[in-house]
Amino acid sequence: MSAEQPVPYLPPVHRAFLRATAAAEKEMGFLVAQDVMFEEEYITTLLCSRLVPEVTYVKFSKKQESQVGGDYLWWWVDRGGEAFGCLVQAKVIHRKGRGWKIGFHHETRTGLQMDQLLASSDYFEVPAAYTFYVGDDAYRSTMKCSKRHQVVSCHQRQGAGVTILPALNAQRTVENAKLRATAPPSKLPFLGGFDPIEDVFHHAEPLSRLTAPGLANDDPAFIRYYRMRLGQGMNGLRELLTPGQIGARKVARFMTDKLAQQAAGAFETAVLPDVHVDQTEVGGRVFDTLPGARGHFGRSFFEHVLRGLRTGLPDYVEAALRNPADGVPAQLAEHVDGLVVVYL
Ligand SMILES: [Zn+2]
Repeated sequence: MSAEQPVPYLPPVHRAFLRATAAAEKEMGFLVAQDVMFEEEYITTLLCSRLVPEVTYVKFSKKQESQVGGDYLWWWVDRGGEAFGCLVQAKVIHRKGRGWKIGFHHETRTGLQMDQLLASSDYFEVPAAYTFYVGDDAYRSTMKCSKRHQVVSCHQRQGAGVTILPALNAQRTVENAKLRATAPPSKLPFLGGFDPIEDVFHHAEPLSRLTAPGLANDDPAFIRYYRMRLGQGMNGLRELLTPGQIGARKVARFMTDKLAQQAAGAFETAVLPDVHVDQTEVGGRVFDTLPGARGHFGRSFFEHVLRGLRTGLPDYVEAALRNPADGVPAQLAEHVDGLVVVYL
């Protein structure tokens, strides 16, 4: 009898993410060893090219406004035809002195990059997210995190070199850090030590987890939070917020949980009216009534994230994939650097 452990079945698309993440981490480690800093655009292209053939991607010719070249529109589509879209901007987290840095405050000709990312996500009616590139194990070995960890520290997680986090989480963290920086000294003891990079990186999850089998957050705190927010006539949403989601809904749920986790920690007194969506404006939304809860994100976060869940891929995705050489709709090429379609 062999004492070998049975190899767990991994879906091919998940293996593609493990392979691509490992390739990106290796390349980042290789560049750092040569004293070369890895850049968003280069790592994004490398990552996407290693996701092929399980994943389809198209890189567009460079849009004029872009200074970084890391905004990709991602769509996860499942066998049932449902799809979840998200506008994703790549950001490098790099070592600076004894600490770490993310260039969130990048200014472009038309304003702050973070505001622009959210405006573009409004244009496509999808949520916005960041992917963070943080090198290989060796590069991350000096990272510290004061938060609690279940098994390993966040920088030691498998695939932690490429992580994802909704942009609203990052925006809120950056704003919290600004508030703390300007707080009067009398309030400082209550605010405590706060490291925004640590906070962002701790909450970002390895991108490869989105396709991993399992992945459901059944934390009772979530269930309670969701139950409190759901209004009349939201039975569809109620179903999404139960355990055991698969396909595009699993990705949508993952993003919703990330926002809800931060929102649950915010004291929200006002009960805001539900958000009703006019389906004639953007067709194919799965949910047309969502809770108005803002969770200090400045907007209904349920609406922001779940507008990305659709009954099918938008027409522009098909058009862009059919003939990427000259068939890319202008609306796409103007706002994003590329398109990634993940078949779940
Ligand atoms: Zn951590």
